[in-house]
Amino acid sequence: MDEGAAPPRVIAIDGPAGSGKSTVARAVADRLDLEYLDTGAMYRGVAHAVLARGVDPADADAVAAVARAVELDVTRSRCLVDGEDASEAIRGPEVTAAVSAVAANPEVRVELVARQRRWVADLGGGVMEGRDIGSVVFPDAELKVYLTASAEVRARRRAAEFPGMDVDRVAAEIRRRDAADSSRAASPLVTADGARVLDTSDLTVDGVVDAIVEMLG
Ligand code: C5P
Repeated sequence: MDEGAAPPRVIAIDGPAGSGKSTVARAVADRLDLEYLDTGAMYRGVAHAVLARGVDPADADAVAAVARAVELDVTRSRCLVDGEDASEAIRGPEVTAAVSAVAANPEVRVELVARQRRWVADLGGGVMEGRDIGSVVFPDAELKVYLTASAEVRARRRAAEFPGMDVDRVAAEIRRRDAADSSRAASPLVTADGARVLDTSDLTVDGVVDAIVEMLG
């Protein structure tokens, strides 16, 4: 064992859609000069590959095979799936509709969690955002934060990202995804043991980032 190596520094940021995770996690990474990984983009990348290959998202074995085979390259600014830039496609309605089913597949999770842990081992740590980072992927993270916000604020934030989209439709989609992500058997969305809960409804991005940096002491 290399006793001189510093342990990886991981900051886990979890929470439901529209809680502000991505914006906040990026800003925290910038503030602390750490790498950033959006694990939701990885699940979306697998869902995109499943649809692109004509695989039925309900066919668990076939979906798991896609997860193991797909080449994913998720960086701060883009998401490559099998070498193709899928940054926009993974945010589209087809992938958004399919992703929760893909993410509920335990074998998909085993594969992506392994890739996420490898990412930390390779880079020596970073800020990771998702649904199960503090509960499953890195339960020993230096800091675990669970971001939340009222359902109304979350729907408004998501709708603002997609101009022209009806707020009520966005709210319904968020409710559907929250219910699926929270009720699944494999790594449901929960507040991890030891996580600090932060309601972002009435806070600015800077306010949330300040609060998180303060928690680090
Ligand atoms: O964060 P984002 O909304 O892009 O995540 C898309 C979907 O990926 C979530 O609705 C959830 O089903 C899944 N996900 C997950 N575990 C993670 C990150 C995302 O199950 N760590």
